[in-house]
Amino acid sequence: MNNRKQIPFSKEQLEQIATAHPTPFHLYDEKAIRENARAFYRAFSWVSGFKNYFAIKACPNPTILKLLKEEGMGADCSSLTELLLAEKVGFRGEEIIFSSNNTPGSEFAEAARLGAVINLDDISHIETLEQSAGIPELISFRYNPGEARFSNAIIGSPREAKYGLTRDQIVDAFRIVKGKGARRFSLHTMIVSNELDEDCFADTARLLFELAVKIRGKTGIRIESINLGGGIGIPYLPEEKAVNFDRLSAKIAALYRKIIVPASLDPTGVVFECGRMITGPYGYLVSRVRHVVSKYKQYVGLDSSMADLMRPGMYGAYHHITVPGKEEQPHDRIYDVTGSLCENVDKFAIDRPLPEIEPGDLLVIHDTGAHGYAMGYNYNGKLRSAELLLREDGTAQLIRRAETVDDYFSTMRFPGAPVKL
Ligand SMILES: *Cc1c(COP(=O)(O)O)cnc(C)c1O
Repeated sequence: MNNRKQIPFSKEQLEQIATAHPTPFHLYDEKAIRENARAFYRAFSWVSGFKNYFAIKACPNPTILKLLKEEGMGADCSSLTELLLAEKVGFRGEEIIFSSNNTPGSEFAEAARLGAVINLDDISHIETLEQSAGIPELISFRYNPGEARFSNAIIGSPREAKYGLTRDQIVDAFRIVKGKGARRFSLHTMIVSNELDEDCFADTARLLFELAVKIRGKTGIRIESINLGGGIGIPYLPEEKAVNFDRLSAKIAALYRKIIVPASLDPTGVVFECGRMITGPYGYLVSRVRHVVSKYKQYVGLDSSMADLMRPGMYGAYHHITVPGKEEQPHDRIYDVTGSLCENVDKFAIDRPLPEIEPGDLLVIHDTGAHGYAMGYNYNGKLRSAELLLREDGTAQLIRRAETVDDYFSTMRFPGAPVKL
């Protein structure tokens, strides 16, 4: 995938969309999402039963989820409401994986009701699961390699991470669930996040392939599917390069031939749980400029805020900005681009070179298709934006309306007012 940071719509098209749907809104590019999904699946066509379970937390919108289901994806859920959303969209049985941590028994029961693949994060959860839902036929464990594995800055050192079973626990865990009646087994890990280096995922594959061979040797258990987790990154910076699916797949295939095949474990499934790279680059936060003001610095104030996109304020993350219609103008102004929260971190960009901006201009913030709307919140009484889908025919479809004042007040109970039951 290229990383030219071009927008897939013209200024005129965007103005037209904004007439029907007031800014701010997140706009998702259906065609690009589908093409990317197909490229990912094509690259892994050598795997029997290849699947990406889309991590719902990245973009919990039913229209987007349905579109990904049409492309053959499953759903990766980590909470009760994500399970219910997957069910409402039409995901069934093993199309759903329930990969959560610190999980209440009631959520295991719900996952079991749906027939989802249950991925246990801790050896003690075998008992929680047994008491709440019984031991299912198919069971998965999340592995944490501890010091056996390098770290990635975002997730941190595996040893410090709260997730997964340790090297000492993982083999016993499979033995225990087999003794309790489980008949099918899969293995999972997730050790990196927003990673662009294909070798990191090859290392993860090697780790799990070798572990599957070890589990076979020690317990006789055959792992039917290896889940490499999510964490494939996206090039937020214009100078970064997207992960090359064909290269990634070739590296994993080479390890499969080297480790899985000689151990007579072929076919073993290989699956992912990617969220970010599936929708991230294909979503745009579209905002209008309210004010351009001059203090000690120059500020562009938008009609959106950190409540619509947390990443810059929370992580100092870079999100590219395009001013439609002014792409070719010299980027000779330096602005801080801000929202309107009473928080000084509420900035989409700091010291960003941009063309001269005037009130009323539309601004497009890139790469908001994952952890954009999803991380939104109501701080400062901000109402969450709408979400739109840019269809393949160029029209825009409302796929979630903006919140209203009534939505905001709907959970409040005013003192003295009668409580409606
Ligand atoms: C967040 C998460 C994912 C998805 O990660 P991305 O970085 O969006 O690909 C997958 N699996 C688990 C267990 C997660 O917590």
